[in-house]
Parts: sequence; structure tokens; C-alpha cells
Amino acid sequence: MNWNIGDVLVKSVIELDISVDPDFSLPDATAKNLSSDFDWLKPYFVDQDGRLKFRVQALLIESYGQKIIIDTCIGNDKKRAEPAFNELNGFFLEDITKAGFSRHDVNIVVCTHLHYDHVGWNTMKVHGEWIPTFPNARYLMAESEVKYCKEQEDDFWVKTFGDSVAPVFKAGLVDLVDCNYQITPEIRLFHTPGHTPGHCSVAITSQGKNAVITGDVMHHPCQCAHPDWLCTADTSPEQAEATRRAFLEKVSEQNILVIGTHWSAPKPVKISKHNMAWKVDIA
Ligand SMILES: [Zn+2]
Repeated sequence: MNWNIGDVLVKSVIELDISVDPDFSLPDATAKNLSSDFDWLKPYFVDQDGRLKFRVQALLIESYGQKIIIDTCIGNDKKRAEPAFNELNGFFLEDITKAGFSRHDVNIVVCTHLHYDHVGWNTMKVHGEWIPTFPNARYLMAESEVKYCKEQEDDFWVKTFGDSVAPVFKAGLVDLVDCNYQITPEIRLFHTPGHTPGHCSVAITSQGKNAVITGDVMHHPCQCAHPDWLCTADTSPEQAEATRRAFLEKVSEQNILVIGTHWSAPKPVKISKHNMAWKVDIA
């Protein structure tokens, strides 16, 4: 799956495509709740049994001579509580190389936030140690996100920081940035707090064309119709909902292409107003 935004090409490398039950992350997204007024979700975003399709992908961008990876998925060999994510042994490195992004060529790694399905390939296991996967890259992380993550004491944050964030700090590869940060003249971070305090989405602007990469502002397109449906991992549910509504308002009014980080979109999508909320339009 590729997206063209003016001179910018965005490529998707998929690590995982799964169907999940509501308790995976969106407790309100039951098959029953999805049965009415959600025809537009089929067939791409829910499966035949009404379960949510959930994608884990990295988004590869070339801009102004920089090879940029937005979010690094789950990673191989990581011990995770979520069975679908635990100790993967996939072909992500081969796949990004095929896409023209060999790990030594990557200049910039962007972490929209520090959850384990967004920072996993920051590191790889070599001789029992976690080393930076992209040794020639600067890893961009929001300063406020890193601060929050370091303050947390539960395993969910601590383990991820230990195996996927701390090693790139140790190697001196991290640039702590503001949540609103211009990466190249075409690529910019903007603050979308609520899922986590320092959560950033990514705006792409080129030749008068615009797109955004969601990060986890919305886990699934069903949240267009229900911005009030919370993700269990949202650190501030109220703020997350307010951010989603503002995000949806903006992209629908300004006709902006939306690249959903966990969305299994087969083609570029836009978002339009629908029944007092929003829906996804597949081009
Ligand atoms: Zn995520």
C-alpha cells in the first residue's frame, strides 16, 4: 500500500494483520454495536464475524533526501503480555529492505508515542543484547512522552522502555523534540494528546496536497462514528475523545488524506461528516 502526497511517497510495511475482540482495545466495538449503521466498515475494516481488523505497520517516507520511518511496530523476540505480540519472528527487516529502506540507510525514526507496538523495531536482539536497529538514524521522541514514560512503574511501560527505548538513548541516537516539530519542509509532528500525554501525529504537505498519519489518535475507523469509544490504553480518556473530535473535524473540513496507523485500508481514505459524527470514504 502506497500513498502519493505531492512529491512525497509513503509506503506501508505491514508487520501484522489480525482480527481482534473488543476487549483487545475497544470494549464498545462489539459485533452487536457494529451491526447497525456501520455498513461502510465492510469488508475492509471488520471481518465476516464482525471482529475488528487491526494492522501493525511501519510507514516509510522519503522527503528532502531523508529516509524516515514512522513507528517501528512490535519487533522480533520481544517478550510481551499480549499473546499476538509476544516473541514474534517475522520478516520486517527483509521487508523494509525490499521497500528501499535497509536499516543502515534510515536517517530518521519517529516514535509517535512509546507504546510497545510503535517502538519495537527501535532495537533488535544480537547475541542476547538489544542494539539499535537503525545505527545511522536519529530517533525522534517527544520530550514530554519520554518524561511521562520514565515516571511509570507498571510493566507495560517499564519493559518497553528497557528493551526498546533505553538502548537507543544509551547509543546517543535520541533527539528529544517538542510535540510540534518540523522534520523536513514537508513533514511535521503535531501534538495529539490523550492516548498518551506526548502523543504526536504526523502531517505531510507537498505541492498543495495534505495528509496525516494518525498514530493512535484512533485505533480503528469505527471511532470516526464513535469518537466517544475509548481505547483501553488511552491515558486520559476525556482528552483522547476531545483530540479525536478536533482531529476528525479538521481532516473532514479540509479534505485531508488520512493514513491510519492501525487501519487495514486497501486504498487511500478520506473522512466525511455522517450522522452527527464521521465516516471513512474509500477513494
Ligand atoms: Zn498502537
